Amino acid sequence: MSDTDAPDNTPSAPSFRSGFVALVGRPNVGKSTLLNALVEHPVSIVSPRPQTTRHRILGIRTREDYQLVFMDTPGMHRHSGSRAMNRYLNRTAVSTAAEADLELFIVEALQWRDEDAQALEKVRATQVPVVAVVNKIDQARPRDMLLPYLEELSARADFAAVVPVSATKKENLEALERIVVERLPQGPMLFPADQLTDRNAQFRAAEIIRQKLTMRLREELPYGLTVQIEEYVEAGRGLRIQALIWVERDGQKAIVVGKGGLNLRDAGRAARLQLKREVGVPVDLRLWVKVKANWADNEQALRSLGYENP
Ligand code: GDP
Ligand code: MG
Repeated sequence: MSDTDAPDNTPSAPSFRSGFVALVGRPNVGKSTLLNALVEHPVSIVSPRPQTTRHRILGIRTREDYQLVFMDTPGMHRHSGSRAMNRYLNRTAVSTAAEADLELFIVEALQWRDEDAQALEKVRATQVPVVAVVNKIDQARPRDMLLPYLEELSARADFAAVVPVSATKKENLEALERIVVERLPQGPMLFPADQLTDRNAQFRAAEIIRQKLTMRLREELPYGLTVQIEEYVEAGRGLRIQALIWVERDGQKAIVVGKGGLNLRDAGRAARLQLKREVGVPVDLRLWVKVKANWADNEQALRSLGYENP
């Protein structure tokens, strides 16, 4: 068969589009929820707390005539001069944004905070084209404030488009996807068609454990907590996963473990059930809590625990 016989929709066709799309914005606007909704797969963990996302995480969506490589990022936030972890998070967000073909600048419907303005400044400095995405329209009240809000937002920068969506209710995501595809250059398939993320099963396991703990801990504690997978092996018909939960101080260890070990057991059970759902086999999950003093303010400790800029 000659080249000219190839149908237009093969990945090698000249009309195929591909590119990297960074999801950026202040913490908690729904970047990770939107990433998961766009790729229709749980790739990145979600919680109502800031600093839930700590890495650049790819979510890949492949269709007949395009491949979209979405990049989740930590929330851009203040205090960039303070702890090493905060500096790492901002650095990761900004460098991911700068290498993208397109940025989705996410805000929350009817909200405009100082941190949104600061994030927008960083976004504009990257010189990458930007689509503004107004998320959480499902909870926008009063509803008739939405249109004036969209107009106000449009005036804040030279956005390629302003798109209202709801990531949780999956509202208007097809429209967003069309706009993204139109803005991307023609190009080849960048990843195998069936690949959904760049992260492996161990990474996902550590993230699920951290998410379950984060959901159960109050105040600042989740920021000082990280999970390291020590063992991830087949055992019988399932998996055995051993993980270390690192905290910064002895007092935090007591809180993570909880009275009579209840908190750790509860989070561990929730993590085990979700892991079982995702990997499709029983999981024997073993968790230990350990203290590494002030690890989140120590560049070397950060690197050794997997917080390293690409
Ligand atoms: P990120 O920090 O920007 O990645 O935000 P997350 O994706 O972790 O979400 C932060 C919180 O907002 C979570 O509690 C989500 O369930 C919630 N959220 C995200 N998208 C929506 C949405 O479209 N509607 C509503 N009502 N809540 C949302
Ligand atoms: Mg996130």
